[in-house]
Amino acid sequence: MRYSALALLRGALSGHRNWPPAWRSPEPKPQYDVVIVGGGGHGLASAYYLAKNHGITNVAVLERGWLGGGNTGRNTTVVRSNYLYPESARLYDFSLRLYEGLARELNFNVMLSQRGHLMLAHSRHDLESMSRWANTMAMHGIDAQLLTREQVGAMVPALDLSAGARYPVLGAFMQPRAGTARHDAVAWGYARGADHLGVDIIQNCAVTGFVTDANGHVTGVDTSRGRIRTARVGIAAAGHSSVLAKLAGFRLPVTSYALQAMVTEPLKPRLDTVVISPGTGAYVSQSDKGEMVIGASLDLFPSYAQRGSFGVLQGVVAATLAMFPSFSRLRLMRQWAGIVDVVHDSSPIIGPTPVPGLYINCGWGTGGFKAIPVGGWTLAHVLATGRNHELAEAFQLERFVTGRLIDEAAASGIAH
Ligand SMILES: Cc1cc2nc3c(=O)[nH]c(=O)nc-3n(C[C@H](O)[C@H](O)[C@H](O)COP(=O)(O)OP(=O)(O)OC[C@H]3O[C@@H](n4cnc5c(N)ncnc54)[C@H](O)[C@@H]3O)c2cc1C
Repeated sequence: MRYSALALLRGALSGHRNWPPAWRSPEPKPQYDVVIVGGGGHGLASAYYLAKNHGITNVAVLERGWLGGGNTGRNTTVVRSNYLYPESARLYDFSLRLYEGLARELNFNVMLSQRGHLMLAHSRHDLESMSRWANTMAMHGIDAQLLTREQVGAMVPALDLSAGARYPVLGAFMQPRAGTARHDAVAWGYARGADHLGVDIIQNCAVTGFVTDANGHVTGVDTSRGRIRTARVGIAAAGHSSVLAKLAGFRLPVTSYALQAMVTEPLKPRLDTVVISPGTGAYVSQSDKGEMVIGASLDLFPSYAQRGSFGVLQGVVAATLAMFPSFSRLRLMRQWAGIVDVVHDSSPIIGPTPVPGLYINCGWGTGGFKAIPVGGWTLAHVLATGRNHELAEAFQLERFVTGRLIDEAAASGIAH
C-alpha cells in the first residue's frame, strides 16, 4: 500500500482497520542468493539497494532480535557530513544526499530535519582547528560556516555565554544541512521498501555459524532456525561484528564499547539546532516530542553490557548543565546504551573479508546512523558485483595491512 493523504483518509473512514503490515514475516527459505546478517539500518538498507539497484531480490535479512533493536534504534539521530579527509567527506556527503531524498524514495516519513549542527569552540586552539576543518569542507563542496560567539548566542540563547561561564564559547563551526532524522523510521522505511521488492526479513533468527566448502568459500549460514544455503553473505552487525568474524574464522580490528545517551522530560521548543561540545564530550538536541536528547562519549573500557557506566553519565550531565544552566530543572526520563564497533582510525570497514563470499560493513563506531544509506548502497554494490564501490575503495579491511588509515578521530569522536 502506498502511503498518501488519500490512504490516510481511507484509513480514517474505516476506523484505521485497513492497514496491512508494513512488511511480511516469512519463514526462512532453505536457499537465498544473498543473506545479510543484522536487521539494523545498514543491513536493511543493503537489502533494499540489492533489490533496487541490482535487481537481486532472493535475499534474506536475518536479525536475531527485532528490527532496529541494535544501535539503529538507540542512537541520538544526528546526520551530518562534516568530515575532514576527502574519502570520508565524499562518503558521508553521498549519504546525506541520499537522506535528503529518502522519505520520497521510500514513501515513508523519515522525519529528516536539517536544523543545522553546531560544534562549539571552547578555546583558540578549537577555533583554529575548526577553521581548517570548515575550509577543507568548503574545498570538498560541502556546506560549512564559522560562527562568532555573538552568532552562536543568537542561535542558541539557552547557552551560557556569561563572563563566568565554566566552558567559555569563543565561536562555533556549523554545517547548516546537517540535523536529525527519526531513527526507527529509517529502519522501518528500508524494511518496508525491501520487503516490497521481495526481500525476506526474518526476525528472531540468530546466525550461529558460517558454512564453507573445501576451498574456504562461504556456502551457507547456521542459524537458530536451521541452516540456510547461500554463496554470498553480508555482515552488518555493528558492535557484534567481531563476534561474527570469530565465528567465520578471522579477526577484525574492532573494539566494542558501550555508548550511552539519555532524554529529559519534554518541554516547549527551546533548542532548534544540534549543539556539540567536543571539549566536554556532551551534545544535545531537542526531539520533536520536546525531550532534550543528550549524548555522551564512549565508555572507557570495552564491554558488551548495554548499560553504560555511571561515571560517563555523570560527566556528561555535569557538562550539559554547565553549558545550559536552565536545563537543571529538567528530570531525566530514560538512559540507555548501545554497543558500538570502534576501529583504530575511526573509519568504517566496507568490503571483502578473508573468507571468499563473505563481505562486511562495520566500524561505524559512534557515528553510523548518518551513514546508513551509503553503508547499504556500498555493501549492496560489493555483494552484487564482487567489486568495491568507488566510494568504499579507501575503506577496505586491507588498509590495516597497508597502513593507509583514514584517521577521523576528531570528526567522529563524539560528534555524532
Ligand atoms: C547511544 C548512541 C548514540 C549514537 N548517536 C549517533 C548519532 O547521533 N548519529 C550517528 O550517525 N550515529 C550514532 N550512533 C551510531 C549508530 O547508531 C550506529 O553506527 C548505527 O546505528 C549502526 O547501524 P547498524 O545497522 O550497523 O547496526 P545495528 O543497528 O546495531 O544493527 C545490527 C544488528 O545486528 C544484529 N545481530 C548481531 N549479531 C547477530 C547475529 N549473530 N545474528 C543475527 N543478527 C545479529 C543485532 O541484533 C542488531 O539489530 C550512536 C550509537 C549509540 C549507541
